[in-house]
Amino acid sequence: MNFKLESTAIQTAVAGLKFRTQAFINGTFADAVSGKTFVTENPATGRPIARIAEGDAADVDCAVKAARAAFESGSWSRRKPAERKQTLLRFAELVEANAGELALLDCLEAGKPIADCVNIDLPDTVACLRWHAEAGDKLYDRVSPTGPENLALILREPVGVVGCVVPWNFPAQMVAWKLGPALAAGNSVVLKPAEQTSLSALCMAGLAAEAGLPAGVFNVVPGFGPTAGQAIGRHPGVDMVAFTGSTEVGRLFLRYAAESNLKRIILECGGKSPQVVLADPPDLDLVAQNVVNSAFWNMGENCSCGSRLIVHQSVKDDLLDRITKLAGTWTVGDPLDPATRVGSMIEKPHLEKVLGYIAAGKADGAKLALGGRQILETAGGYFVEVTIFDEVTNAMKIAREEIFGPVLSVIPFATEAEAVAIANDTNYGLAASLYTRDLNTAHRVARAIRAGTVSVNCYSEGDLTTPFGGFKESGFAGRDKSIWAHEQYTELKTIWMQLA
Ligand code: NAP
Ligand code: MG
Repeated sequence: MNFKLESTAIQTAVAGLKFRTQAFINGTFADAVSGKTFVTENPATGRPIARIAEGDAADVDCAVKAARAAFESGSWSRRKPAERKQTLLRFAELVEANAGELALLDCLEAGKPIADCVNIDLPDTVACLRWHAEAGDKLYDRVSPTGPENLALILREPVGVVGCVVPWNFPAQMVAWKLGPALAAGNSVVLKPAEQTSLSALCMAGLAAEAGLPAGVFNVVPGFGPTAGQAIGRHPGVDMVAFTGSTEVGRLFLRYAAESNLKRIILECGGKSPQVVLADPPDLDLVAQNVVNSAFWNMGENCSCGSRLIVHQSVKDDLLDRITKLAGTWTVGDPLDPATRVGSMIEKPHLEKVLGYIAAGKADGAKLALGGRQILETAGGYFVEVTIFDEVTNAMKIAREEIFGPVLSVIPFATEAEAVAIANDTNYGLAASLYTRDLNTAHRVARAIRAGTVSVNCYSEGDLTTPFGGFKESGFAGRDKSIWAHEQYTELKTIWMQLA
């Protein structure tokens, strides 16, 4: 289903939507073993969308057994990489053919602007699946430089059964970031979407089967974190978990692994990313555009959100003026309206959390420069104004904790050393931006900032060719995207041979 980005066409498309609401295990859609369901809600209206099968430990166990059987059968794990590529490319094609529907599902469940879902999330999802599909048959193993009496092969083998536990902020895209490299490497997957956003993952499961992925290779168990999520983390039949979500929950997976089978754990977690504007920035309008995009894109519900603007005191007032004016043009409203730039917060408790941070900013003495209030209550949803605080110090709560909402903190500085110190004074280290006209300053500051991705004179997460992940408490042991993502879904094996 594809449609024009125009209100009537969108409403018609919504009316025609069909939902997959059952778990997908061993190639079949089925109710939860317990028969339980939970409601998924539209956060822009507060109204229910559908009831979803509530998987728990019993369903995870079925899915892991199916994934293990598929892995051991070799139906996928031992197929030629070139053949896996063909299936995954067909899958990408089907996702592309159904991109309109998937975009609507993410828009409805996550409250994300439809224009972003259509123009960013779904094209990126398709591109990601294609990139990893294509990479799978272009990777070579190695022969070690041993003496003439031996031959030592250093091989990469699929890890086995991979559990993927993903968040709600980029639902379809996060599935692709995990699934693309995990499947290309030959693994079987058991995925648990976030409880708020199961629909696009379930739709993608149907498309993967249609593309010819053998039964049991990709399973989706919708459900809650403490039950279904924990069961994946503790299952002795899961060889690895790839997790994206909060640092708090990421930590739990390390515990689950320690207390079960020492499964490999890869974590992509939160951030409090700095945007550093030095005393010699390029065109300030361009800086303002990037700063606003970094802080408010996806409602600030973005792990690499540039939530701290660390700006040289000589340009602060001028830049603040421009970003305030520009941010004021980012329309907050109905996610289904193609003109909306900022949709709703994901759920009521999260809205309350964001409002709590705004209250903390005021109480700590930061100066409110824009927004700060809940709005559009009559719609029934969870909307908050785009919010900017000036005169923030890095010690304040709003500068230290991940808010995951549209709240920007502006922190002035006097010297480059001070800027770097503030940028690094955080437990996180996912992303950073810096703005300067001087090439030497750019290299010096980019190297000094402790973050997985540093962008210069722009806000960017790179593209599919660049690894994405964090230093410090933003991540653990791996990277999404790029060839480095493939490696993390493989085990290293040495085959040592004695030659006659
Ligand atoms: P979250 O609460 O940590 O949830 C992530 C996933 O873990 C969900 O599927 C969740 O299930 C599950 N979970 C929750 N509690 C669990 C438990 N006790 N045991 C096992 N699994 C559990 O994160 P979120 O609120 O969905 O997403 C926001 C966070 O994700 C932010 O911190 C953001 O920075 C981070 N994020 C990071 C990246 C990155 O690439 N670094 C990308 C996007 C988002 P439920 O849905 O049932 O809670
Ligand atoms: Mg959650």
